[in-house]
Amino acid sequence: MGRRAEPTLPVPVEDDLLVEAPLRPRTLDEYIGQESIRENLRVQIAAARSRGDVLDHVLLYGPPGLGKTSLAHVIAHELAVGIRPTAGPVLERPGDLAAILTNLERGQVFFVDEIHRLNHVVEETLYPASALRDRFGATFRLDFYCIADLERILRRAAGILGVALEDDGAAEIARRARGTPRIANRLLRRVRDFAEVRAQGKINRIVARDALALLEVDEAGFDKMDRALLLAIVDKFGGGPVGLETLAAAVGEERGTIEEVYEPFLIQEGFLARTPKGRVATALTYAHFGRATGGPPAAQQKLL
Ligand code: ADP
Repeated sequence: MGRRAEPTLPVPVEDDLLVEAPLRPRTLDEYIGQESIRENLRVQIAAARSRGDVLDHVLLYGPPGLGKTSLAHVIAHELAVGIRPTAGPVLERPGDLAAILTNLERGQVFFVDEIHRLNHVVEETLYPASALRDRFGATFRLDFYCIADLERILRRAAGILGVALEDDGAAEIARRARGTPRIANRLLRRVRDFAEVRAQGKINRIVARDALALLEVDEAGFDKMDRALLLAIVDKFGGGPVGLETLAAAVGEERGTIEEVYEPFLIQEGFLARTPKGRVATALTYAHFGRATGGPPAAQQKLL
């Protein structure tokens, strides 16, 4: 996938790319959740097929790991056509794009991953004038998945991987997967390793909980960087507002990564807010870390 050539994007890590292929849903029926997008696409695909026409351009957007690439492949499969994937950063010159386009067969799906990173000159060749979204026949925003859908995704993955995953184990992993199928599947593999060594391979709630504690994934599903971000706002910047650049420097992460990978979930869950002056921590953040709102850390308060 073209995404591999993009050095600044931290996800997916290499081992995800290798193991994700067998877990990818191939049909609309195998694709779990995102009901309204699926039903819309089902209608559009059926209409295009019955007219013998091609599908309108489709724009899929949303945080990484929610199933955009999978859906592009599903669309090609449902249309019974091939797919030619590339990625915005790979198309450096208009010639790169032309080389691909001239080799496409009629009806084939041309999939541009990370199209928002397409450089301007190439973009203009693809679609002269008008804003990106206006150029697409259908624009779909993928939402974070609910726990029940993530449990279904985990059970399906466990079936494919041959993992003994009990219902309460699936629930525990789903709850901490940041609403993201890629993370759910990644945690499943890590928990499986733990279960093989410590619990004869069987994943129940206790095993999942112990494994996730070892992986430093907390009750809310936050990993080290989530915690570093939130705690920086609380401890270093008095709860905010703090500018994204300053925050990025404080935690040693790239601005784009914070914006695209970490923030969306923290914002949706109400742990972070964007204001015109910068990012602020919320009452939920203080509660999550056991801190008194707006004051110094609880431990320090005791000492005072
Ligand atoms: P994106 O392109 O949005 O970053 P992907 O399509 O690469 O996300 O999805 C990452 C992985 O998550 C896939 O390999 C697949 O295993 C899993 N996945 C994503 N969406 C779904 C879904 N709706 N149903 C089942 N598995 C999914």
